[in-house]
Amino acid sequence: MKILQIDHLGIAVNSIEEGQRFWTDVLGLPCEGAETVASQKVTTAFFPVGESEVELLESTAPDGPVAKYIEKRGEGIQHIAFRVENIEEALAELKAKGVRLIDETPRMGAGGARIAFLHPKSTSGVLVELCQR
Ligand code: ZN
Repeated sequence: MKILQIDHLGIAVNSIEEGQRFWTDVLGLPCEGAETVASQKVTTAFFPVGESEVELLESTAPDGPVAKYIEKRGEGIQHIAFRVENIEEALAELKAKGVRLIDETPRMGAGGARIAFLHPKSTSGVLVELCQR
C-alpha cells in the first residue's frame, strides 16, 4: 500500500464556531466550508494548511462518536488521516497483516472522499483514517 501524505488531522470540538476563533481568527486559516455527515452524526469544517488540512468535528447528537469522544477525553485530536493511493488495496493489505478494521469496506466521508477507519487497538491508541480522494 502507498501512503501519499497526511491528509488531515481530525479535531473534536464542542463548537466549530468557537473553534474558528483560534484556527481562523488567530492562526489565519481560512475555513473551506462546513458539511454535515448525517451517518456519523457530525458536522465537519476543513481548514487547508499547505497540502494537508485541519478538520474540526462538531457532534450533531449527544450519542454521536464525536460527542462520546469529548465526554471521555475532552476536546482535542480525535483522529489522523492518511491519504492513500488505493483504499481497497490498503484495507486488504492491513487486514492480511492482522490489523483490526472498523470499516472493512470504504464509505463516503466529507468532501466526497472515500474513507475507512482502523481500530485504535491495532494502532497504539490512535484512531487512524485512510482516505482516497
Ligand atoms: Zn477525518
